[in-house]
Amino acid sequence: MQLILLGPPGAGKGTQAQRLEEKYGLKQLSTGDMLREAAASGSELGRELKKVMDSGALVPDGLIIDMINDRIQEPDCVKGFILDGFPRTVEQAEALDQMLAENQKGLDLIIEMQVDEQELFNRLRSRIEEAGDNVRSDDNEETFRKRLKVYHDLTAPILPYYKAKGMVQIVDGMQGINDVAEQIDALMSKKAA
Ligand code: AMP
Repeated sequence: MQLILLGPPGAGKGTQAQRLEEKYGLKQLSTGDMLREAAASGSELGRELKKVMDSGALVPDGLIIDMINDRIQEPDCVKGFILDGFPRTVEQAEALDQMLAENQKGLDLIIEMQVDEQELFNRLRSRIEEAGDNVRSDDNEETFRKRLKVYHDLTAPILPYYKAKGMVQIVDGMQGINDVAEQIDALMSKKAA
């Protein structure tokens, strides 16, 4: 089973993807985590990636597409995977369709997690407070505003692309973690039925 979690930064995609990995044995593929790992390596490319991420912009489509294309062919993805943070542009969505077709796989579910902007800022402020010195370098109000704009300008246009194929299910991401999890589990059961 292959699914996509879509939603603005701070919507809870990572939290729900981790839970889905544990519950259903699907592999969480977070492009943000992969990029942060590469950035931490201290290589030349890593330093470039960190600069882009700290600005709140997106890293180039080609790089991300190659990264995911390699990753989905690893043995731990055989049972299926949850895409968390990918695709983030229409170009990435089109490339995903192509790579899934080449690997004889399809998309089973696309979940849009809806959270209003005020709540996203409240969550950001809590994360900053809780993380203290370990705060993510792109978790500050200025960069977050940029990340939100990028979401609206470049990522949200993916939704009509998938909606036209009748594949999008909406989840109310304003609720607590367990309630959101229940909504997602209900969609998973419906899909498996
Ligand atoms: P995330 O952890 O998903 O919020 O991603 C953190 C940052 O990594 C983003 O603000 C982008 O700079 C970069 N990033 C993550 N996923 C992608 C993607 N699919 N395409 C381009 N850039 C990405």
